Amino acid sequence: MGAQELQFIDGARRTGSGAALSVLAPADGDVIVSGAGADASDVNTAVAAARAAFPQWAGATPGARSDIMHEWARVLRGRAAEFAAMESRNAGKPIRLASEFDVPGTIDNTAFFAGAARNLEGKAAAEYSGDHTSSIRREPLGVIGSIAPWNYPLQMAAWKILPAVAAGNTVVLKPSELTPLTSLLFAETAIAAGVPAGVINIVTGTGAAAGQALVEHPEVAMVSFTGSTGVGRRVAAAAAGSVKRVHLELGGKAPFVVFDDADIEAAARGAVAGSLINTGQDCTAATRAYVQRPLFDEFVSRVADLMDQVRLGPVEDPETDLGPLISLPHRDKVSDLVDRAREAGAKIVRGGRIPDHTPAGGAYYEPTLIIGAAQDSEIVQQEVFGPVLVVLPFDTDDEAIALANDTPYGLAASAWSSNVFRTQRASREIQAGCVWINDHIPIISEMPHGGYRASGFGKDMSTYAFDEYTNIKHVMSDITGLAHKPWHDVIFRPR
Ligand code: NAD
Repeated sequence: MGAQELQFIDGARRTGSGAALSVLAPADGDVIVSGAGADASDVNTAVAAARAAFPQWAGATPGARSDIMHEWARVLRGRAAEFAAMESRNAGKPIRLASEFDVPGTIDNTAFFAGAARNLEGKAAAEYSGDHTSSIRREPLGVIGSIAPWNYPLQMAAWKILPAVAAGNTVVLKPSELTPLTSLLFAETAIAAGVPAGVINIVTGTGAAAGQALVEHPEVAMVSFTGSTGVGRRVAAAAAGSVKRVHLELGGKAPFVVFDDADIEAAARGAVAGSLINTGQDCTAATRAYVQRPLFDEFVSRVADLMDQVRLGPVEDPETDLGPLISLPHRDKVSDLVDRAREAGAKIVRGGRIPDHTPAGGAYYEPTLIIGAAQDSEIVQQEVFGPVLVVLPFDTDDEAIALANDTPYGLAASAWSSNVFRTQRASREIQAGCVWINDHIPIISEMPHGGYRASGFGKDMSTYAFDEYTNIKHVMSDITGLAHKPWHDVIFRPR
């Protein structure tokens, strides 16, 4: 495609001032576009544009913002195929996944927040003290600095931008430097729909060159970060310098608990879909299946058979099930983790290797099924972010819950059983922001997504996200009209 302007600031594409950046296609390693990345000076320009746009956007009525966002959803629907093709190529997603999950999910999210913009909630205004009327104002914070990862570039841009702008904030988003293309197009469609210039800005650059500058910027009111737990820690520490509000959506290591009364066919299919979605590069992917001993062998055999049917191939082929990993270095990281598990005594039942017949230059890795790993080994404890499922046995329900909670993470989990008491217990006792019962992966715009523990805090999607992107102000108005108010007597009595 050639050179392109990789920044979107104040309503227009611009050339960055930072180092050269090439955006690659994970499926074949080709350069899709190249251009100049953002540095701190681009971040300054983008924050200034967002600050300038804030008073008008924050002052618009919720209904006016809502109308524009409904129009935005309409524009997105009209360009859905273009978004899907771009996301598929840049993020290495099979076209079926991009067109049936990423893009419709983003359109639905946009339509949801268009409606939600008119539904900011608070406690009823009333006379709680008897002497005052109290009311709640929900106010936008100002400029939001958002930082997104590469695994779901369009959806992550949407999750960050939509609740923020629906509530009246303006945004500077830094997508991953590996996958900026659909974020740039998303911002362009916002302008086409009537979102004023400066409300949504995209700075494409590395974490060191642009991310850090955004986090530390004194005029950024809040940092909303999605990415790894390690970088999230650094972001939180850097934001502390200017006492910024921080929202962190971090890594995950989701357990998948199969009790002995589960529908084994459903559980096996769920484990394959839940572990291989987006080539396992999903923070909620099923990574650790704990299966009660009577079902263990049959579960492993069924999952192995299903994995044998999974088709790897070019991402644009609608028959392809599994695409590449995001990059060759990431593929090597996944491969090294599996090799070390093998050396530590785990058994690789399927996969565990780079496939022979996939496009040259593509970062492909086979669907991988592992048993016999130790609970405290790195393959069970650390985020692999690849198409790798580890299956371990358990005996009692107590043990299953303890194993499910035995990593530092707490983003998502699932429990599989036909017994309502078991599923209720699992949903109560597993420490995660989402617990699925007899399913794993589905998300929905009306419901929140967010972590516990090392998976971070704060919610994306749903009206709960407004708690991140608004300040709650209490306005307390005297209704007595008295100069000498009764409560003054506590401090000084008239004498
Ligand atoms: P990453 O942490 O390496 O990078 C995330 C973003 O942070 C990128 O845009 C990167 O450029 C930027 N960054 C890097 N260093 C920075 C710094 N010092 N200051 C500011 N920004 C910096 O993560 P990744 O590899 O892009 O994505 C994969 C990770 O994201 C996984 O850990 C995954 O679990 C997580 N993730 C979490 C969720 C969730 O909702 N919890 C969703 C998707 C992905």
